[in-house]
Amino acid sequence: MPGRSSERRVAVSMSRLATATIHLGALRHNLARIREHASGARVMAVVKADGYGHGLERVARALHEADAFGVAAIADGQRLRAAGHRQRIVVLSGPDSAGDLAEMRRLDLDAVIHHQSQLDWLADDADGRPLRVWLKIDSGMHRLGFPAMRVPEVHARLAAMPNVADEIVLMTHFAASDEFENCLTARQIETFRTATEGLPGPRALSNSAGVLGWPDARGDWVRVGGLLYGLSVVEGRCGADFGYCPAMTLGTRLIAVNDLHKGDRVGYAATWLAPEDMRLGVAAIGYGDGYPRSAVAGTPVRIRGRTTQIVGRVSMDLVTVDLRDLPDAGVGDEVILWGAELPVETVAAHAGTIGYELTCGMTRRVLFMEDE
Ligand SMILES: *Cc1c(COP(=O)(O)O)cnc(C)c1O
Repeated sequence: MPGRSSERRVAVSMSRLATATIHLGALRHNLARIREHASGARVMAVVKADGYGHGLERVARALHEADAFGVAAIADGQRLRAAGHRQRIVVLSGPDSAGDLAEMRRLDLDAVIHHQSQLDWLADDADGRPLRVWLKIDSGMHRLGFPAMRVPEVHARLAAMPNVADEIVLMTHFAASDEFENCLTARQIETFRTATEGLPGPRALSNSAGVLGWPDARGDWVRVGGLLYGLSVVEGRCGADFGYCPAMTLGTRLIAVNDLHKGDRVGYAATWLAPEDMRLGVAAIGYGDGYPRSAVAGTPVRIRGRTTQIVGRVSMDLVTVDLRDLPDAGVGDEVILWGAELPVETVAAHAGTIGYELTCGMTRRVLFMEDE
């Protein structure tokens, strides 16, 4: 139908050029690789923050073989149930109010219980139907969780509640598992082991870096986010270094190519000075799309299969790039900001952050696409 296709053309030309392509095959590969790494442990696919910015429903569809999903908000659990997922869905910080318990039951969500206030809500909860509970223990991160000392008492209390399911998962979270030499993790593993000694129930300790670096912490469940998306938080290493594939390519196009004279200044605050006569490219992406304003001059980008760099400040809609080594580059050329050829971890290092923050930060203006 000609009418249809012209409608589609209009829709595409009205959108921005910035696109995030999500590689579903990479997501599936990464889940399989995690299973190898975590030899036999059940895998909770952590899909909070809209699947680390990759799109919750899309990611969950690709990862439908995960043993459970982990979310930070009940609303995400609702979206997963609406999409037809039937596996366990764990709300990683549990109920935020007594009223959340009814909603969690309605959606059949597992609750992490980490605080006295939540224990009190459960104790006062008139609903007799058993809720599945993950008891969170603070083994040294000092963010969420019951202190190790209280574990036997809290566990006994939960186990005696008729509205708590029989199997209570025992969990903790690492503060520094990405530093493979940091003895804090070894101490956390030991604190957790001692605190839970003799208690029944599956154990869940590791996040992504725990899976990579701490085989002692394998347990019965692993809770993995970053690696699913091919992301690593290990300093100086990207997901690909461990056999994981990046699940997002962020790209756009050059919309202008201009000649600069030596000494010309580029961009806001005129921070960058052309060291010689040169060609400059202008790419249609900026912090309004989620490309970080903190990315300094020298941050790599890929054009025509070669690495070049941004120059000047990142602005809301545009970045300027050095075309000195790309004499053939022209308007319309694709610019890759990150992806398989340019790890997002590298870009993040130039912006003083981690890859997770960058993929989470894509704005609604970015056009999402999928490939197998
Ligand atoms: C986010 C989160 C994870 C996943 O961490 P990654 O480093 O992305 O693997 C695991 N456990 C908890 C409690 C979390 O909040």
